[in-house]
Amino acid sequence: MRSLDGADMARVPYASHYSPSPAAQAARRRPRGVVATVAVAAFAACVVLPASAQDAGATNVLDLAVRTGAALEWHPLRELGVLVRGGRQVHFRVGTPWVLTEAHVPLYTGAITRDGGAVTLPAAGASLVSSYLLPEPDLPRRRVAAIMIDPGHGGRDPGTIGSHRIGEGSLTLQEKEVVLDASLRLHRLLAARYPDKQVLLTRDDDTYVSLGDRVSQANAVATGEHEAVVFVSVHANASLDRRSRGFEVWYLPPEFRRTLITEDEVEEGSEALVPILNTMLEEEYTRESVMLARGVVAALDRAVGDLSPNRGIREESWFVVRNAEMPAVLIELGFATNRDEAQLLASGVYLQTLAEAIYSAIESFVGMYESSEGFTRT
Ligand SMILES: [Zn+2]
Repeated sequence: MRSLDGADMARVPYASHYSPSPAAQAARRRPRGVVATVAVAAFAACVVLPASAQDAGATNVLDLAVRTGAALEWHPLRELGVLVRGGRQVHFRVGTPWVLTEAHVPLYTGAITRDGGAVTLPAAGASLVSSYLLPEPDLPRRRVAAIMIDPGHGGRDPGTIGSHRIGEGSLTLQEKEVVLDASLRLHRLLAARYPDKQVLLTRDDDTYVSLGDRVSQANAVATGEHEAVVFVSVHANASLDRRSRGFEVWYLPPEFRRTLITEDEVEEGSEALVPILNTMLEEEYTRESVMLARGVVAALDRAVGDLSPNRGIREESWFVVRNAEMPAVLIELGFATNRDEAQLLASGVYLQTLAEAIYSAIESFVGMYESSEGFTRT
């Protein structure tokens, strides 16, 4: 424990440990009589005490506020205060052995005392208050914050080129054009469905984007805690065997490991946890990628399975997928080198059908992800 000066006091509850949710901000805007935000400064003046003056088994409400990330408001004259976190509030008063929640439910904490300047409560009472302020349902919900669509190739990199003689004429299909067309259609569908999410493209015209740039773009998407980015790379296939045809989806193989969390990001003393955390995260990303891949393959099979064979799900550490720190799949729409499939891929109607199938798979993945808290609940 440390002794705090007035400047620390004003800073601790509000600036460095508490980011008010909209609900809390709304709660704070409501007038609450004498318990006003400005009272924190006064609290600072009267609760500056060296640690030695406090009982060993007691918890200072200041520490409780810091530990729970709650804002502390204090009325020095009436000796009452409130801890606010999210939509939850705990009102307490010196000399009263219980606290009241915002729903007026009393919680028995044992004697709340003021010893010189420090307001303390018994450790057991403090943990009761803490578990009220930090309930599981109050944690930020897991959500997909962004969907990054990555049309392969572009500009000076055409990708696969399929040249076919069709009757008297000919058809030349460039992968970069087909995948951009399909990706733009997918983007339109997703952007209309999710106005609250970032729906992004690594390129939206015929420009060259390096693989490194695609990965950096995906990794640069700013997301908050418990927010995922879904990465979908769109390609068309090629084979020396011009009879090869069909669609397939690739995902990151589970044996591939990379550093998702660095030691800088964990608390001091917990560095040994880094490999364990990374393994857990890696498995989560792999599982999510596999689920998404399964969904896309099934949706494509329903949509075009009678026109194009289902080649299933494949594992590969493709550069783009491998480096993106997020659930990621790579979709091969079909073979530009197959005459029949090239004709399909040259059709806007067919590309729209593919885009709608991929869209529906992403939509159900997002729905499952968000309703199961990132698949942590079934
Ligand atoms: Zn490609």
